[in-house]
Amino acid sequence: MTAPVTPATATPATPARHPALTAADPELAALVGAEERLQADTLRLIPSENYVSQAVLEASGTVLQNKYSEGYPGRRYYEGQQNIDRVERLAVARARSLFGVEHANVQPYSGSPANLAVYLAFAEPGDTVMGMALPMGGHLTHGWGVSATGSWFRGVQYGVRRDTGLVDFDEVRELALKERPKVIFCGGTALPRTIDFAAFGEIAREAGAVLVADIAHIAGLIAGGAHPSPVPHADVISTTTHKTLRGPRGAMLMCREEHAKAVDKAVFPGLQGGPHNHTTAGIAVALHEAAQPSFRDYAHAVVANAGALAEALLARGFELVSGGTDNHLVLMDLTSKEVPGKVAAQALDRAGIVVNYNTVPFDPRKPFDPSGVRIGTPSLTSRGLTAEHMPAVADWIDRGVAAARRGDEDALAAIRAEVGELMSAFPAPGLPTLPGLPA
Ligand SMILES: *Cc1c(COP(=O)(O)O)cnc(C)c1O
Repeated sequence: MTAPVTPATATPATPARHPALTAADPELAALVGAEERLQADTLRLIPSENYVSQAVLEASGTVLQNKYSEGYPGRRYYEGQQNIDRVERLAVARARSLFGVEHANVQPYSGSPANLAVYLAFAEPGDTVMGMALPMGGHLTHGWGVSATGSWFRGVQYGVRRDTGLVDFDEVRELALKERPKVIFCGGTALPRTIDFAAFGEIAREAGAVLVADIAHIAGLIAGGAHPSPVPHADVISTTTHKTLRGPRGAMLMCREEHAKAVDKAVFPGLQGGPHNHTTAGIAVALHEAAQPSFRDYAHAVVANAGALAEALLARGFELVSGGTDNHLVLMDLTSKEVPGKVAAQALDRAGIVVNYNTVPFDPRKPFDPSGVRIGTPSLTSRGLTAEHMPAVADWIDRGVAAARRGDEDALAAIRAEVGELMSAFPAPGLPTLPGLPA
């Protein structure tokens, strides 16, 4: 399916957006241009994705990437750190201030290595660790079997209740006291409801475990005051920087001073080599942006949009895990619509609506062909869509899922055109408006 595009002849020639790249490697430049267009004129509903600002893009694409800086500010193994040390200190100071934590490490390459560093800091191979089961909404790195975290450690897993779709804290407590894990992870990738960090903290203390709050998905909501903070309940906070926090792809570990040394040692030299300084710079910019009043508005708008979208989907007969959402994310169970999640996701993609298929709790289907579709509002909110637009979004999803069941490609193409038209009225951060993009 090709996007409805303005014919090249209809627009005056625009200067190449990436002139050096275009000259050096036109093939790659064309692929980047195509991705820019795709991100500009589709409705991106994957809840772990976002649009970074032009400022974050620029900071992430700087010559800071040329520099090796193994170690930490003031304690490096390479010379020439006059500027790099200041960049990293700025990022750390901003993280500490934004999240109200004593210590921050901004070097983890991404969320999964950040979590690996936590295990390295607080557990030995073979130790018992505990997290939410992947099919229930947890993350691979919370001790799931196919991950190193589930094969090097003995992972025990909690889930949600079948009747409510919510975490059962009696079950979590019972399991923690029986298994005595070294580390307990809370948080996940498909959790539409508020995480009760205080309840997890109480259980972890009772069981003598280190509580890790993995806020990868909701860091931006927490920073913006739209979700409760895990401070002071968690011993360690792990987060990616590229989801609701709207920074470059990276991660951070935050903790109280008492754990600072263990965390830092685990990241470097325990797990990683030189930090990605250009990414650190992008993180610093994103943290600065997230400290502005406008980011509070953004975080609350993300949640308001998700609530409005959930309501509009319920009104159209969709079944939602836990019955709705408190945050940025909605998990649809398509069983009653008689369309497998993957079929629906692929059809919606042809309609210009980008989602991912996902297991639902107690899914009778396989993870690679599950019953659910996961959607979220961080990206569309970054483009300025509001709750008023959510009935239209729900309508497209409804029509798209129905078209998927019928195998109606014309209906998907019609939705594609409508989506493209709305998106052209809401330019995305970091991207030029549509006429400026290569067709
Ligand atoms: C996204 C995510 C991660 C992993 O992040 P990557 O950067 O993809 O490695 C870890 N934990 C949770 C809860 C996540 O949502």
